Amino acid sequence: MDVSSLYRPLKGLTLYMVSLGCSKNLVDSERILNSFLSLGCQIVEGAGEADILVVNTCSFIEAATKEALENLFYLSSQKKEGAFLVVIGCLVSRYGRKFSQHFVEADLFVPPGQYQNLPALVASLMGRESALIDEPFENWPRSLATPPWRAWLKISEGCNRNCAYCLIPSIRGPYKPKSLERLKYEASLLVSSGVKEITMVAQDLTAWHEGELKFGDLVQSLAELEGLVWLRLMYAYPDDLTEKLVKRLAICGGALIPYLDMPLQHASASLLRRMNRKAISPLKLVKSIRDWWPEAALRSTLMVGFPGETESEFEQMLKLVEEAKFENLGVFKFSPEEGARAAKLPDQIPASIKEKRRRTLMAKQRAISKAINKKRIGSTLTVLVEGASEDSPLVMVGRATFQAPEVDGLIYFDGQQPKAGQIVEVKIIKSSDYDLVGRVNYPSLKQGACKSQG
Ligand code: SF4
Repeated sequence: MDVSSLYRPLKGLTLYMVSLGCSKNLVDSERILNSFLSLGCQIVEGAGEADILVVNTCSFIEAATKEALENLFYLSSQKKEGAFLVVIGCLVSRYGRKFSQHFVEADLFVPPGQYQNLPALVASLMGRESALIDEPFENWPRSLATPPWRAWLKISEGCNRNCAYCLIPSIRGPYKPKSLERLKYEASLLVSSGVKEITMVAQDLTAWHEGELKFGDLVQSLAELEGLVWLRLMYAYPDDLTEKLVKRLAICGGALIPYLDMPLQHASASLLRRMNRKAISPLKLVKSIRDWWPEAALRSTLMVGFPGETESEFEQMLKLVEEAKFENLGVFKFSPEEGARAAKLPDQIPASIKEKRRRTLMAKQRAISKAINKKRIGSTLTVLVEGASEDSPLVMVGRATFQAPEVDGLIYFDGQQPKAGQIVEVKIIKSSDYDLVGRVNYPSLKQGACKSQG
């Protein structure tokens, strides 16, 4: 970034920042945080101490909007006299002028496409000299908000698909991939700062391309990065998971771990068509992927209660869960979002039925996950240590390759010796619905013969 060490227009000011929503939003927040620190701001722990409060909002569904508003009302009640509240992110894109007219407690509103100007806008709000940064926003360095041994790598912005329930293309704009060279550079910076696990994320991961290069080429290049231990893939669009790509991932080697997240959303081809998604056969696809890449742990997300979802379409989803035996699964209820085409479709499903279907699917998944975990008893797993558990400093938690950060289960094991960020071998001794319990395999003590001196 083109900010000289003497250029500190925000020097002496204190910053309190909140990042809501997904990993993609967090990466933006990490860039913004770094820019404010580079321009002289200092971070404070309490909202009431800050001169500048920045909230990066998420607003792709009603629940996220509610969470963003709760945070904003709370922070506006906390801000000290003379402090400025800055609202950025999807809530600003989604509700624009309407929102800024109603939420008068905030001093500045900046949507995602204008982050480049954020420091300058804040500087002028604070009566400071201009704080322009020449470097394009997507290349700004990051101050990691994740533990130092893991990070997200956002490989593109926006989405060109047009799923009937989704507002992301209108909020985040059209698909824009980053270059291979840039992504390799960013990944190598992360590795040299101590990151062991990189999770590649995007609104549409597998759409990545650059000239002749395709997604498989990008994965291969990143997997070969020296020093990277785990490379994980999240948010692959199912239709892009061709035999050629999946077989390539299966033999990729390097740091690529056998884990694939593919949001299938539904099992019924006719319902997928109504969602304006490609009408693949999800069950057939899952079975093929199990053949092409048998070691891969599969994660998916499904949506219940899309308008017009019949009992028989829901039954197809139950069958999918039963037969696919996903290692990890998330189930969401359809939310009719203002501005999304599906919100206006007839035959909206009552909330009680959506909740019942969600519970039914999750009950099925719980039993599957429990059975998968039970089979892991007695095995020894390579585990990335996340630190002490919330309940006891003597119990450590970590993750194996089949457990993505923040969404999948955990492994609990005896503590003290392994440090956070280390990789250890853990022998599994117990299992529960989603988590595992084990013991660290310490190298066995070699006992030499004691030679008598007498
Ligand atoms: S692919 Fe994902 S981000 Fe893009 S429109 Fe569909 S649900 Fe939204």
